[in-house]
Amino acid sequence: MSGPVTQSDAAANVADSGHPSAPCVEISESRDGQVGNVQVRRALPRKGRRMVGAWCFADHMGPADVTENSGLDVGPHPHIGLQTLTWLIDGEVLHRDSLGSEQVIKPGQLNLMTSGGAVTHAEEATGHYRGVLEGIQLWVALPESTRHGDGAFEHHVDMPQMDLDGAVATVLVGNFGDLVSPARHDTALVGVDLNMHGPTAVPLNPGWEYGLVVLEGAIELHGRPLPPGKLGYLGRGRDELVLNVAEPTRAILLGGEPFDEPIMMWWNFVARNRAEIDAAYASWSAQDDRFGRVRSNLPLIPAKAPFWQQN
Ligand code: MN
Repeated sequence: MSGPVTQSDAAANVADSGHPSAPCVEISESRDGQVGNVQVRRALPRKGRRMVGAWCFADHMGPADVTENSGLDVGPHPHIGLQTLTWLIDGEVLHRDSLGSEQVIKPGQLNLMTSGGAVTHAEEATGHYRGVLEGIQLWVALPESTRHGDGAFEHHVDMPQMDLDGAVATVLVGNFGDLVSPARHDTALVGVDLNMHGPTAVPLNPGWEYGLVVLEGAIELHGRPLPPGKLGYLGRGRDELVLNVAEPTRAILLGGEPFDEPIMMWWNFVARNRAEIDAAYASWSAQDDRFGRVRSNLPLIPAKAPFWQQN
């Protein structure tokens, strides 16, 4: 997805709230936006809460009606320094990238692209699906050891699942209970889809921070409602958390070791400083060789000038 991360998402002059070592419940509003033809609720990054572990971006997309020729329709655009993880609960999207990958994404399948130092991708209608599209796109910030490396692409159709008391848990990335996702991850983190029908006790790692994004239904979190359109940030220090639901609820649990490298995000770039973003912006604007090419019928998305270059 094109992640138009801007000052509206996480202003440079608003300090982050840090990574509390004690349990907390901090509920923040997502920002409504549009990506391609689809409405999104951006839970990360937000002012004061840029990351949960290495998770640095979370767009709940849809539900949206798509036709055979009109869907997400995000044309070719570049990424640096991150992984994009696409998880659908309804609909289909066609992923194409500059590594030569071409893959239809369906519900229950994990689409994971690692940008390394540079990659380009497009996210399109499949040409035959019509119906509802809904899902989440997540970004993971890459650590110094891999963020300048080669791009890579994985698509997993068979994700590990387990039954909890009131939910079916699907492990998108990392370890959860006794399950291990096959997805690549370069830092200690976890992502879990929770399909809940009743109270659910979720095992947590006390050394990690966690957040919840609800896609459908609502979770009651220490007596406070967490519906779609919000991020429930949980801090650290719990080994378990009971999630109560009054209706069927679909939520994504994100967690990980606090990411200790200070990142700078602009548009589709995750970097460490302005000079790196200036260089990526210049390469995409000039369409030099850095980002490669992706076969797509959609037009290239023009680069958005960093705010410090704007008058
Ligand atoms: Mn993208």
